Amino acid sequence: MNPIYNFNPGPSVLPQSVLKKVQAELVNYPGLGYSILEDSHRSKTFLKILADAKDKLKSLLGLGDKYEVLFMQGGASSQFFQIPMNFLQGKKADYIDTGSWVSKAVKEAKLYGEPRVIASSKDKNYNYIPKIKDLKFNEDSAYIYLCSNNTIEGTQWKSFPNHASIPLIGDFSSDILSRKVDMSPFALIYAGAQKNLGPAGVTIVAVRKDFLPLAAEKIPTMCSYKVMVENDSLYNTPPVFPIYLTNYVLDWIIEQGGVDGVEKINNQKAGAIYSAVDASNGFYTCPVAKEDRSFMNIVYTLPSEEKTEKFLAEAKALGFLNLKGHRSVGGIRASVYNAFPLEGAEKLGAFMSAFAKKS
Ligand SMILES: *Cc1c(COP(=O)(O)O)cnc(C)c1O
Repeated sequence: MNPIYNFNPGPSVLPQSVLKKVQAELVNYPGLGYSILEDSHRSKTFLKILADAKDKLKSLLGLGDKYEVLFMQGGASSQFFQIPMNFLQGKKADYIDTGSWVSKAVKEAKLYGEPRVIASSKDKNYNYIPKIKDLKFNEDSAYIYLCSNNTIEGTQWKSFPNHASIPLIGDFSSDILSRKVDMSPFALIYAGAQKNLGPAGVTIVAVRKDFLPLAAEKIPTMCSYKVMVENDSLYNTPPVFPIYLTNYVLDWIIEQGGVDGVEKINNQKAGAIYSAVDASNGFYTCPVAKEDRSFMNIVYTLPSEEKTEKFLAEAKALGFLNLKGHRSVGGIRASVYNAFPLEGAEKLGAFMSAFAKKS
């Protein structure tokens, strides 16, 4: 039997050691006598898990004391409307359209104000990131909005715009804690957990304390960042299981040497696959501009539909699972988030080279 390598774009692979630990203590959480799933979200045990997870996130993200960290629900997609509900309210904001996740965020923002798409890579199927030096922001913007890693199209911002007076907001759902990022230009970032952090069901939000007072007051309680902060994410029952599991994934990241450690491995993983693309004499094509290539979601195509099908079938037989590209892009997508093992990426690269040679 070949080992299984799961390239799922989300929900995605989790560290084996974390899954085993959860399995071992699922029925009886140490010291509790019953499962963590059966415990009150206001118990001492759970409050410690919540506080630990928050502290680790703050430290791994390098946030210092200027930010509040929240655990929210409704998926990353709920942030598409919660952000404008809190911070737009009839005003205008600048959005940088780099793919389907930003397009969806723009659609939701229209319910609350005037999102302006000030730059877009739609003209080339979203295969690049607009150049920072060409961006022209509107001074009357409530905020600037971008998506750090475009999960579907396979592009990634390598550095970020930084405006002196307009708050910057970033969707980091598919590359949070995968690389060192200076968060100081960001007034708010968020990430659904199910790609790089844990299971589906919890969304991490970090909001800068000086941005929070600008949030609207007359909005539904569950959508209010202010209320979430005042109640330390415990206004209602939070998603206890995803938070508990995410807390262990954060320990795992720390064991890997923190963000620096995982970044180094992530570069090697992406390098192994992109090298196979670049060395294939055009057999594989990566549509993404080289300098904007994502290190999390690697997309490429083969010369024909037939060869793509054959590639996927042979890959599957070898244990490389879930490589089919997103329905809107086609081809192949290899998602190699933090928990994806280096050897899996190296083996995929070797398989790609062998497949190209014989085809
Ligand atoms: C997956 C993803 C989302 C949507 O996440 P949900 O939790 O399913 O709502 C949003 N943005 C990005 C960048 C994503 O990768």
